[in-house]
Amino acid sequence: MQYFLVLLVIILIYLIYALIPSLWFKVMYKIKRKENDKIIYLTFDDGPSSKYTNKLLDVLKKYNIKASFFCVASFALENKDIIKRIEKDGHIIGLHSLKHENAYLMDIFKTNKDFKNSLKIMKDLGLNIKYFRPPWGDLNLASLFNIRKYHFKLILWHVMAEDWKKDTTAFDIEVKLLQRIKGGDIVCLHDGRGKNNAPLITIEALDKAIPILLGKGFVFQTVDKYNEK
Ligand SMILES: [Zn+2]
Repeated sequence: MQYFLVLLVIILIYLIYALIPSLWFKVMYKIKRKENDKIIYLTFDDGPSSKYTNKLLDVLKKYNIKASFFCVASFALENKDIIKRIEKDGHIIGLHSLKHENAYLMDIFKTNKDFKNSLKIMKDLGLNIKYFRPPWGDLNLASLFNIRKYHFKLILWHVMAEDWKKDTTAFDIEVKLLQRIKGGDIVCLHDGRGKNNAPLITIEALDKAIPILLGKGFVFQTVDKYNEK
């Protein structure tokens, strides 16, 4: 009986610490989505990557499109030249944690350290971070505290195209993007990590989908222009 009670308390603490806040913000993000005829916010997580990000930047430049990059701070440190190019090309840089660890598995102290160390790296790179997206969209109470402390705006997403999957194709991603995107959506894609060079497939899909979306009259904006209801 005692063990059962201890287990129950642990589960309850975990629910309050991580599961409920994550679920709450994910649901609220969808509810607060503002319909906006023709605006799309492209966002890219998990970079910068020496293998993929420059190729993506070339495609965005080709169509003169601005996007938002949620960078992993330790990857940014390894790819300073790419960070400079993302900025020079006029895109927005937000934070996507220090090493892409899950907030569900981090205690308060580790979470605080994650934010502090990430910000130190980003500041040393000359970046003034205003936007934060947690890996997998997962939060804990300490991440919420840090988001407030550093005055970040939390940016989640409305549309994904499962572009990290190992067996997906550029055609699959293109079709998903064209079918799923509605005006006002924040679209989450990836320019790093992923299996079997997945980001290359994402870039190939975008090279096909972007001109079609432009042809339909969509306009691409960065997340600093995003307003909720
Ligand atoms: Zn991620």
